[in-house]
Amino acid sequence: MDKILRIDVGAQGGPKATVEPVGDYAGMGGRGMTTMVVYKEVPADCHPLGPENKLVISPGLMSGSAASSSGRLSVGCKSPLTGTIKESNAGGTAAQALGRLGYAAVILEGERQGDDMYKVFIDDQGVKIEKANELKMLPNYDLIDKLKPVYGEKVSVISIGTAGEMRFSNSSIAVTDPEFRPTRHCGRGGVGAVMGSKGIKCIVVDASNTKMRQPVNPEGFKEANRKFVEGLKQHAVTGQGLPTYGTNVLTNVLNEAGGYPTYNFREGRYKHHQNLSGELQAENMKNREGGQPTHGCHRGCAIQCSGIYTDKDGNYMTKQPEYETVWSHGGNCGIDDLDVVAKLDYLDDNYGLDTIEMGVTIGVAMEAGVIEFGDGEGAINLVHEVGKGTPLGRILGAGTATTARCYGLEHAPVVKGQAMPAYDPRSVKGIGVTYATSTMGADHTAGYAVATNILKVGGDVDPLKVEGQAELSRNLQVATAALDATGYCLFIAFAILDQPETFNAMVDSINQMYGLSMTGDDVVALGQKILKMEQEFNKKAGFGPEHDRLPRYFSREPLTPHNVVFDVPAEELDKVYNF
Ligand code: SF4
Repeated sequence: MDKILRIDVGAQGGPKATVEPVGDYAGMGGRGMTTMVVYKEVPADCHPLGPENKLVISPGLMSGSAASSSGRLSVGCKSPLTGTIKESNAGGTAAQALGRLGYAAVILEGERQGDDMYKVFIDDQGVKIEKANELKMLPNYDLIDKLKPVYGEKVSVISIGTAGEMRFSNSSIAVTDPEFRPTRHCGRGGVGAVMGSKGIKCIVVDASNTKMRQPVNPEGFKEANRKFVEGLKQHAVTGQGLPTYGTNVLTNVLNEAGGYPTYNFREGRYKHHQNLSGELQAENMKNREGGQPTHGCHRGCAIQCSGIYTDKDGNYMTKQPEYETVWSHGGNCGIDDLDVVAKLDYLDDNYGLDTIEMGVTIGVAMEAGVIEFGDGEGAINLVHEVGKGTPLGRILGAGTATTARCYGLEHAPVVKGQAMPAYDPRSVKGIGVTYATSTMGADHTAGYAVATNILKVGGDVDPLKVEGQAELSRNLQVATAALDATGYCLFIAFAILDQPETFNAMVDSINQMYGLSMTGDDVVALGQKILKMEQEFNKKAGFGPEHDRLPRYFSREPLTPHNVVFDVPAEELDKVYNF
């Protein structure tokens, strides 16, 4: 991956592609690449939808190689939702395809001219950009149906739905999976709106004439990857829990722990949690025709946490909804029907919406009385309003914070304007520290303290106590920033946190791939470097320690069943970035 593709969307006569050597960005990939480009090239005080913002798309350092579970694609920009720097990543097949074609990044930049929408086609022969107004305002699944006869099903597509075209702050960027469905999403922070602001509807990547990226030391790489896969297979979470039940295995776990936010974060347990559990979801996928409970979002994943979800008659509904999606549309809204959640997940993917932001926004709309808690049909209608861009849909599509403001509510569970995910910060305090201090706004993946607070992976820090949470979050945020640069899926963290030999095998795989001699300390240094750039960008964008806080009601209103508030002091939060 030694070249960068820049697309100037403001060029005379339509968007123009230039390919340049990777240059100063050599050695960066995934979040490392997106963060460094945004940090160096985007003025921190620019408008996220204006000409100075850029959308950076980057495969991880290991993407396109035979390294297991390394197909994550990062997308970065200044976020229209938070105003901070943003990186959001997804699985799917595009990272591997871009990696095999040798692209370390694709950068969309400049000022869109006029209202035309364009499609970009990249293969081993080069780059073609064509006007594609016939694709305007197509939802993602319909878009793929239009592209299929033209490009076949072996290509990868990175696209936006209607929400991205309307530049909504909760819009995602979709990536196709091995079945050529637009099911994997860079969901968070409104990245789809930035792609929409550049007038690019989709990027089609065809790597069919290319080979897998070859390691510098093939034998050493093979052995290191073998040990790495062995480690993933032997860990209880990556070897059994995730392949069998997917991430939704967490519904019962979080509910039991009293950390399952229910009715717009009013309670910590949901009485109908069994109806939403990963166990039931897996049963449905096993017993229904066409269902598949174990499935990889790209080829070569040894964990395979994903699945295919069908209805009672065997018709495809959506990919296996993630825990956070089942929670946001389920317990958080008082909806206890997995098939309704599956329908909502499909609609989110089709219109191109972040399932977390959308579900939490619906929870706020329910609290405001727009519809009742538990009203599944009402929730489906609200997502249609967003996808179609009605006046109400435009309010909801602007995200949770805006919706709460429009309805005069204090209860907006957001940090830096981004909705909190599926773990209540009062009873899982480590994740509360991550929500408060992450450079991305409330984001569980930025430093997944749930692993150590609740699952007891990588140690044991009591979720209800203040002690140790800041340090835990700091260490996880640093490790995650580095991992997000490699293209490895975050879920490998369960095995590498618990098993030193698996961590060493991962580092060794990178070394053998690139002919390096990196140590664990170098991995930490990479993570710190990425976070420092992100923090610096945010500072220039106007963010200070006073923004690294949870909404005050989390410190005032106790959460059942433990009757706890978020009480990690501000001084502790301010220490997280001391490194
Ligand atoms: S573990 Fe799941 S999300 Fe991660 S790469 Fe594998 S299938 Fe995709």
